Amino acid sequence: MSLPLSHPALLAADPELAALVAAEERLQSDTLRLIPSENYVSTAVLQASGTVLQNKYSEGYAGRRYYEGQQNIDKVETLAVERAKALFGVEHANVQPYSGSPANLAVYLAFAEPGDTVMGMALPMGGHLTHGWGVSATGKWFRGVQYGVRADTGLIDFDEVRELALKERPKLIFCGGTALPRTIDFAAFAEIAREAGAVLVADVAHIAGLIAGGAHPSPVPHADVISTTTHKTLRGPRGAMLMSREEHAKA
Ligand SMILES: *Cc1c(COP(=O)(O)O)cnc(C)c1O
Repeated sequence: MSLPLSHPALLAADPELAALVAAEERLQSDTLRLIPSENYVSTAVLQASGTVLQNKYSEGYAGRRYYEGQQNIDKVETLAVERAKALFGVEHANVQPYSGSPANLAVYLAFAEPGDTVMGMALPMGGHLTHGWGVSATGKWFRGVQYGVRADTGLIDFDEVRELALKERPKLIFCGGTALPRTIDFAAFAEIAREAGAVLVADVAHIAGLIAGGAHPSPVPHADVISTTTHKTLRGPRGAMLMSREEHAKA
């Protein structure tokens, strides 16, 4: 990666911050990070992130905004939506979430009421905080029940998932995790979600790039909703997307 190592305007306006940015650029080029959720974006992504698009408010959707002057912004958002739909083969995409956690919160607000039961993988088993874990808003405002992996195989225990889903009847079932180094069986989750009458959410934040590249099976035919960050294996800037079939687009 070639970093733009000079920021003359920033240096002139705020030398203290410019020095910290420069120190971080040195740190990132001198060390090898092995944090799977992190990313080395391309220079093109860095450049696209530092533009006058920063100056705009764009509440609403393309063609239906609360602000004037959206002729270019609408095209940018539409471009992102169309590219997401083509890349993952989905009918609907919303590219507005700032990151994965607020994207997941939007899924709760679309399909559940506060106090409803939701189901996800336990955090210590590899799940994400936002899948109903207690310290997250999702576990405080909703009643989270958690599945895990089998102690002997380290694999998701689908007998436990089915039993828990049929007993607890969650509104939402989350699959996909943060520390889950195995292939996710989306079809098995979909079958259980159907039996339990739950909405299946595939949170592919960590593996979106592998799915786009064909190295991991796609959740698209199986999950009702797909949530992903854009800044992990997808290698984009910090952000997130929600994707679904047309039937859930409005929600
Ligand atoms: C990283 C991650 C998120 C949250 O993304 P943020 O951008 O940190 O808010 C959600 N779900 C999973 C599975 C993740 O790995």
